Amino acid sequence: MKGLLFWVLSLTWGILMTAFGLLVSLVLLIAGVRPSRWRWFLCFEVGAGWGGFECGPMFVVERGAPESMRCHEAGHGVQNILFGPLMPFLVSIPSAVRYWARRIALARGRRDLPPYDGIWFEGQATRWGTKLFGGTQHKPRLRRIK
Ligand SMILES: [Zn+2]
Repeated sequence: MKGLLFWVLSLTWGILMTAFGLLVSLVLLIAGVRPSRWRWFLCFEVGAGWGGFECGPMFVVERGAPESMRCHEAGHGVQNILFGPLMPFLVSIPSAVRYWARRIALARGRRDLPPYDGIWFEGQATRWGTKLFGGTQHKPRLRRIK
């Protein structure tokens, strides 16, 4: 039920990021990448050692991404249904710019960067994603046998 509400909001209030996500999904599908379902999300796994990004109810992560990374990206998905059309400007674009700035700084030898979750939108994505999708609360439900 919560998953249904999530998709309804993703396809309405959060349609901006969802539309971008559908475009990304189309490109990945054409490239032969098959998605899987993770919690309420469509999950694509591509490449290695780069991290991930989220667009609406789908996210793309490195192959074999840990649960913590999936939870973080899912947290951005929850931000999207809350922030709606403001999502790209409040979170997605600043997050992408910061991600690349950090990569470049690290490649240049900087070792004094603040923690990744040190900025509000990344910390919030991790907290919300972990609270909603992490841990043991998502173990598959046992089917009751009559
Ligand atoms: Zn993030």
